[in-house]
Amino acid sequence: MPSVQEYDGVLLGAGHNTLVLQAYLGRAGLKTLCLERRSVAGGGLSTVEDRRRPGFLHNTHSFYHRAINQMPWYKDLDLERLGARYIEPPLNVALLLRNGDVLEWWTDFERTIESFARFSTKDSKALRRWRDEFLPIVESILGPESMAPPLPVDERMRRWERSAEGRRLLAVSKLSPIEFVHSEFENPVIRAGLLFFNGLREVDLRAPGFGHHIPALLASRHKAQMCVGGSAELAKAFVTAVEQTGGGIRLNTLPRQIVIENGRAVGVETTDGNYFRASLFVASGLNPIQTFVELIREGVLPAAWREKATAYRFNLLAPLFSLNVNLTEAPRYTATDRCPNVSEAFMTILGLEDSAQFNEIVSKHESGEISSTVMWGSCPSIFDPSQAPPGKHTAFMWEKLPYKLRGNPENWDRERETHGQRMLDVWSQFAPGLRDSLLDYSVQTPLDTERTLPNMRYGDLLVGSLSEGQTGAGRPFAGAGHYRSCVPNLYLCGSSSHPGGNITGLPGYNCAQVLTGDLGIARFRVFGEC
Ligand SMILES: Cc1cc2nc3c(=O)[nH]c(=O)nc-3n(C[C@H](O)[C@H](O)[C@H](O)COP(=O)(O)OP(=O)(O)OC[C@H]3O[C@@H](n4cnc5c(N)ncnc54)[C@H](O)[C@@H]3O)c2cc1C
Repeated sequence: MPSVQEYDGVLLGAGHNTLVLQAYLGRAGLKTLCLERRSVAGGGLSTVEDRRRPGFLHNTHSFYHRAINQMPWYKDLDLERLGARYIEPPLNVALLLRNGDVLEWWTDFERTIESFARFSTKDSKALRRWRDEFLPIVESILGPESMAPPLPVDERMRRWERSAEGRRLLAVSKLSPIEFVHSEFENPVIRAGLLFFNGLREVDLRAPGFGHHIPALLASRHKAQMCVGGSAELAKAFVTAVEQTGGGIRLNTLPRQIVIENGRAVGVETTDGNYFRASLFVASGLNPIQTFVELIREGVLPAAWREKATAYRFNLLAPLFSLNVNLTEAPRYTATDRCPNVSEAFMTILGLEDSAQFNEIVSKHESGEISSTVMWGSCPSIFDPSQAPPGKHTAFMWEKLPYKLRGNPENWDRERETHGQRMLDVWSQFAPGLRDSLLDYSVQTPLDTERTLPNMRYGDLLVGSLSEGQTGAGRPFAGAGHYRSCVPNLYLCGSSSHPGGNITGLPGYNCAQVLTGDLGIARFRVFGEC
């Protein structure tokens, strides 16, 4: 006999988005349980101690967290009091060139302008112009849009048409990122650097409709941040927020089926024979294929809905190969001779010299081959010594590589060491003493990502492509873009919903607004700003 336990709501997958939602629902007084397949909560907020070398911590998934301490949920849930702490290093990004030059992005905008001007005066002026023009657009349109359930496309366009900022946004968004950068900037290194940031967001650089992404990034006031103690410290703060409001997280638990009775979601059965009844809702932080196709019996949902879920698309360009190293000293880049600041760069980009390289990266992804190395990473222990033993360092590099290596993801299990060595070689070209200071290293392939976090199908860390209509109210697919599903009481709260993947917490935050609204819970009881 399966044991039956009663809750107001059951949530699936303890990623940060689900935890955001669960913590808000706890504040609303609901009794909830989250089911997580792994032995630890947090999903992409993961910090792992090297088993062979105690004291060396590695952030195996996300590391760069954009503007986290400015997020509404960070403040509402009082995560700083619960142990999270963020730092935003001033030299936020440095693009190192083989000739020793460095293109720099600072938290101080004037210093970024100075760096751009060393490459092109015209481009530094364009940077200032676009930053000034997009600041009000980000603050009055794009920022608020990401922190609310998406508007229907027509309504969104009507609103944009009503203001000068909105009309400007509309015009720029019609371009592709490549068109935007090539029409507005002249220097090849600056073009490459700007497109890299767009590529980081995994948007197809050739796709019209995303031309506004780069000026929006240029205009955002906050840059990349890191969590002191490692990304998992944010996950721990979430878990405390959930548990303090009476929520439960059941680890090592695999859902077998979302139970639908009389057309409503009423609970979740697990593979270990338990049944968790949900009197008010089931919320899934998993992708739509897992939620609607794998966890709901065939024939229960309308065929059209199931077809749309099955057709959900993942990013070709999102998978990462990671190289994590333990070092006796921080990497010493030769570029430091000319630009001493490089030793304090938070994100260091290597191997990128020209925007034409993106064409090669895209075509190699399409054919399943390895392109010439463009990689980026950090040495976290420079900024937070708690991530390595005293006097030692941890560092990492990431590279975008295809999931299906030569047509088969399992080829990664054969190629992992060779590729790790290849990355060490390229890294050493920029930091010649790297191998002398190397104590140990480990790698993680796109296939490993999927094995660890199966919602990131095909290693897609954004949990679904942002192109081809899978944005805004069309995410994950038309009709499902409001965190609700075709089944009453069944909600979506993960990165497959607006505004998408990365550590933003916003799909969970927006779902909390929808779900508490549907349950008739007064906003002021739950959200801090009311
Ligand atoms: C190598 C790498 C580097 C990254 N770097 C960054 C970065 O620097 N900055 C950034 O913002 N983002 C980064 N990301 C992306 C970021 O981690 C994800 O977009 C984010 O974690 C998604 O959050 P989520 O809450 O939607 O889901 P997840 O964090 O993926 O959590 C989903 C949870 O569901 C669980 N789960 C999956 N399937 C099941 C199942 N069947 N049953 C029960 N539980 C299940 C998983 O174990 C996991 O705990 C990176 C990702 C990777 C892989």
